[in-house]
Amino acid sequence: MKLQGLLKTALLSTLVLSGSLFASEDKFLVRFDLTDSVKALLKKSDLDVTGINYNENIIEALVSEDELGKLQSNKANFHYMLPKTLLRGPDEEYKTPQEIEEYLKDVHSRFPEITKLKVIGQSLEGRDIWAMKISDNAEIEEASEPAILFNGMHHAREVMGPEVIIDIIDTLTQGYNTNDQSTNWVNNNEIWVIPMFNVDGNQKVWDADSMWRKNTRGGYGVDINRNYPGSWNTCNGSSSRQGAQDYRGPSAASEPETQAMMQFVSEITPVFDISYHSYSELVLYPYGCRPLKAEQDVISVIGKEMGTMLKYKAGTPWELLYNADGGDIDWMYMEHQVIPYVIEVNSTSQGFQPSYSKWRQVTVERNRPAWMHILNRVEGSGFKGVAKNGEKSIVITAAKTKAIIQNYKIKKDGSYVVILTPGEYEIKFQGETPTTMSSKKITVSSKMIQL
Ligand SMILES: [Zn+2]
Repeated sequence: MKLQGLLKTALLSTLVLSGSLFASEDKFLVRFDLTDSVKALLKKSDLDVTGINYNENIIEALVSEDELGKLQSNKANFHYMLPKTLLRGPDEEYKTPQEIEEYLKDVHSRFPEITKLKVIGQSLEGRDIWAMKISDNAEIEEASEPAILFNGMHHAREVMGPEVIIDIIDTLTQGYNTNDQSTNWVNNNEIWVIPMFNVDGNQKVWDADSMWRKNTRGGYGVDINRNYPGSWNTCNGSSSRQGAQDYRGPSAASEPETQAMMQFVSEITPVFDISYHSYSELVLYPYGCRPLKAEQDVISVIGKEMGTMLKYKAGTPWELLYNADGGDIDWMYMEHQVIPYVIEVNSTSQGFQPSYSKWRQVTVERNRPAWMHILNRVEGSGFKGVAKNGEKSIVITAAKTKAIIQNYKIKKDGSYVVILTPGEYEIKFQGETPTTMSSKKITVSSKMIQL
């Protein structure tokens, strides 16, 4: 419906009257019908698109009064969301950076044998970025155990991400030796978690602006999740404007947070990653730029399996929304062959900061099947082992079509874990220089093959 001038005035005065209830006083959450022309208009106008809802066919953006005027003059079909419910700021039960640190130290003191704390780097303002490893013999790096990474909060206002990670930590540590599934996952994997990645941005959410998204560079901020090399600035999937919510930064990996994540991922080379965001109820996987699709079909297969489990829509960013370049999933996949996902939790009816008492537990419980699927899937179809003769890579070819599926890079510690869909493959190990090593035929079924 088209907003009438009178109604607009009425709503504006409501907003002004209730202005003290939320930090972003000059912003309005606007809801549109989801059409291609609206998507194009939002993109062209460089607006802060906050979420999408495929069930109800709506898309939402946070706009200033100026931007609102421009949208009206473009005759965009929109209607307001009353912001009281969605822009009220996070409930105090959600965690601050300081509380995340205290929580992790407390978990480590209660479960010292199966947890290890690590600071992966410092934010721009010098805050520690904390990671935790959950594994048996947590102090030792075990080459035979695959690494898996779960991280939350690239974007500061998305406060439910850390809660999902906290639920992963609690389930695994409290379930160790009391629940068979958790015990097996902890014994057989090196599970790494980063509950709150954008610590500076989150502090700003608490102190100054509940709708802050980026890091705090220069007061304008860089979108850390548009700052990764790999696909940085390749498809108009980010902005060059400092004030934009998806400002990509002056160069790839210009931000200390991005560099910390890159260094960390290079060290642990996880088989899988899930980066938790909100909101939209989506499972996203590479690539971010139209029309690129990941070379291995297993990536979309697992993504869609998780989508079915969660009742979330699954696809690439450009299939479900529009181009996104410089994201962590593109870089992890292109540089380290991680199988990476973004999961956008919560819907338009909950937004970035839903009532903690009403939505926290519901959301983390609903999201369990996906991360549990990843922990199970690492034992599903594929092959793994430790290279014994210094081999550097494995060329994997489909036996029938002879198409190359992947040129897999063996990890620094000599280990490899290759996730594949079931079928017949030819695999060929290669050393530093091209060799004449013969290829070997393997049949991949539903269980991981130990070579
Ligand atoms: Zn996000």
